[in-house]
Amino acid sequence: MTTIAFIGLGNMGGGMAANLAGAGHDVRAFDLSKAALEKAVGAGCLAASSTLDAIKGAEVIVTMLPAGQHVRGIYLGADGIIENAQAGALLIDSSTIDINSARTVIEAAETKGYDMVDAPVSGGVAAAAAGTLTFMVGGTTDAFAKAQTYLAHMGKNIFHAGAAGNGQGAKVCNNMLLGIHMIGTCEAFALAEKLGLDAQTFYDISSTASGQNWSMTSYCPAPGPVPAAPSNNDYKAGFAAAMMLKDLRLAQDAASKAKAATPLGAQAESLYALMEAAGKDDLDFSGIMKLINGTL
Ligand code: NAD
Repeated sequence: MTTIAFIGLGNMGGGMAANLAGAGHDVRAFDLSKAALEKAVGAGCLAASSTLDAIKGAEVIVTMLPAGQHVRGIYLGADGIIENAQAGALLIDSSTIDINSARTVIEAAETKGYDMVDAPVSGGVAAAAAGTLTFMVGGTTDAFAKAQTYLAHMGKNIFHAGAAGNGQGAKVCNNMLLGIHMIGTCEAFALAEKLGLDAQTFYDISSTASGQNWSMTSYCPAPGPVPAAPSNNDYKAGFAAAMMLKDLRLAQDAASKAKAATPLGAQAESLYALMEAAGKDDLDFSGIMKLINGTL
């Protein structure tokens, strides 16, 4: 049994912390939200009164926070995790954040002698609760090997993506591609309808032809063909358009710093920003169908 501090018990972190506790670890949990903390305690975690209280004596520290500013805020500085963790602690940040923040924090941790990985996840709230997340991990081989033991309690696919920050790199590239093929799939279904093809007929053809892709066959944005898809539930999220926009912005930030040309990624970001401007970014990301077919 390992003493693990878990900070950030929101939609994702709540399920992940519960799975670590369920695996028999001593999970000392903290969140600024009382409700989130109470829920984690109900799932077998021990309540801590602050981040510093949670990390006291912890051999492993996991964070699952909204964005780069939160991660920098909690790790860096005199009151931060890096200055106050016990010697030899393993640090794992699973938040989806910008690559620069991830690399800055990991470099600071390594300077103080800690092993640290960025380990963002793919898979939503259901996968976090079920322990079936995919982890994309950046960091040294040693740090990855140590982290794998714990990540295995929270996920089923764990990939070493390379050096520090590469987990975030893999995550934004994947989600940029997802945003692009979701929009492309919406355009194809909207055009097919105007041309007189119903969604099921076009699905039957395209899903066995070269237009086939994950957005179509697992998450079809046109109601009908994939019963479990959010399109059959008024586009209730799922994976919210706001989260997709966050990831597309991170991708554009990374692309501009790396001088990579990502014109379709830029266009996808602009289209999801229109969902935000319309106040509809709480819809599932497949709800961009409504923007494309003029029903938003
Ligand atoms: P969330 O907003 O539900 O949870 C974040 C939690 O962090 C909140 O409970 C908040 O109170 C807490 N928090 C913020 N600052 C804190 C601090 N200083 N100390 C303690 N607690 C603090 O977000 P989420 O949906 O759980 O997402 C977490 C991360 O996972 C994000 O980076 C997100 O992009 C990523 N992600 C989310 C999903 C998803 O489907 N929700 C999927 C993949 C990745």
